[in-house]
Amino acid sequence: MKNRIYIGNLQKHIGEEIIVAGWVNVRRDHGKLIFVDLRDMSGLVQMVILPSHTEAREIASEIRPEWVVEVQAKVNKRPEKMINTDEQNGDIELEALSIKVLNQSLTLPFEINEDTINIDEEVRLKYRYLDLRTKRMQKNIRVRDKVITFFREYMHKNDFVEIETPLLMKGTPEGSREYLVPSRIDQGKFYALPQSPQQYKQLCMVAGFEKYFQIARCMRDEDLRGDRQPEFTQLDYEMSFITQEEVLQFTEKMFIELVEKLFPEKKISKTPFTRTTYAESMEKYGSDKPDLRENKEDKNELAFVWIIDFPMFEKDEDGKITTTHHPFCSAKEEDKKKFMDGEDLLSIRANSYDLVLNGFELSSGSIRIYEQELQEKMFDLLGISKEEQQSRFGHILEAFKYGAPPHGGFAPGIDRILMLLLGEPNIREVIAFPKTGEAKELMTGAPTPANKKQLKELGIKIQTKK
Ligand code: ASP
Repeated sequence: MKNRIYIGNLQKHIGEEIIVAGWVNVRRDHGKLIFVDLRDMSGLVQMVILPSHTEAREIASEIRPEWVVEVQAKVNKRPEKMINTDEQNGDIELEALSIKVLNQSLTLPFEINEDTINIDEEVRLKYRYLDLRTKRMQKNIRVRDKVITFFREYMHKNDFVEIETPLLMKGTPEGSREYLVPSRIDQGKFYALPQSPQQYKQLCMVAGFEKYFQIARCMRDEDLRGDRQPEFTQLDYEMSFITQEEVLQFTEKMFIELVEKLFPEKKISKTPFTRTTYAESMEKYGSDKPDLRENKEDKNELAFVWIIDFPMFEKDEDGKITTTHHPFCSAKEEDKKKFMDGEDLLSIRANSYDLVLNGFELSSGSIRIYEQELQEKMFDLLGISKEEQQSRFGHILEAFKYGAPPHGGFAPGIDRILMLLLGEPNIREVIAFPKTGEAKELMTGAPTPANKKQLKELGIKIQTKK
């Protein structure tokens, strides 16, 4: 729209005739005068329609909340006694000269001038595009963008390169069920969606990039326990020739800078962050996600804790040995002999670390195995046959034969970080289009059935549940 001025910039145009466009936030008819609060992406302004501007007045008496309008108006300073210092543009007012209705709106299913936190969430999710118009949701999604921008800049400042890794892939073990995508060209075969870029980021180290990062979408088909989403976002990174100490310090500095820059009202209870081993944490707090805030009522306190030296292995529900994190973590030097001898597996500690904030796990990471024999040993210990090792992990075992450098990394979950920094009760409040606990996206209705033609092309027959 030519010469359109954003509401947030009106202060620079006092006394001028301008064009604004946006939504009718509220309309108040005072008989002689009609007031309309107009909203665009940059904020709110009050507009008055005087009886003398007859055409504008006629339209103003018809418009309703959430109609979309373009307005030609004069920016006036408010008389002294009308100034409201508590609101944006509280010292100015638009005098509407002409109003053009660009679109109408039905009455909304819920009020968006108020916080929608107490509105039935299914309704909010069905009409997410309306829910996102609210002040809090606009703020959350915009802060999300700022945080992601901060991370990108921090990474680039430190010589990392952002590399996109495939979404259609072979799958990587992170301890969850994977989402499968059927191949049409190669019927009966499937891609897996990434549970994380773990193997690709390690292969980027073999490829010599040394410092990789990605704002990575991860997909895990879990029975959604608590506050999980089938897809979520990690700041995924990996570095070559790095020690655990260096990863911890690099990460810690990043979080301190993030809080200072974007959340100055928050205070970190302790720097350097508290560090405790897994064993100590379990003994002292009975948890590997201790909440070490001094004052749990203080919504601005941030207590970061590093949990280090995780056990490498644990037993799953069936009593089978599995990894606590994933099978690419290396064993601590002191426990390497036990690892090689395959003895006393549950006592082996890994070079792996978690970052916990206010009782929530933010992230996991580790210094990896980079030697082919050790990686094979790991798969052996997990009871994976040589054939299965080849079919599932042949690529990485092969890659490790070609000068793989020592490396390690980390992957903080962006949704959780935002939830905690914005003081939200769950991660759905910081995701634009989240799914429900049943992994449904209520606005579009996904997942939906495939049609006959699609199924035929994929060679898939649906067996309906009895
Ligand atoms: N890939 C791991 C995860 O998703 C993080 C890491 O080890 O860097 O938890």
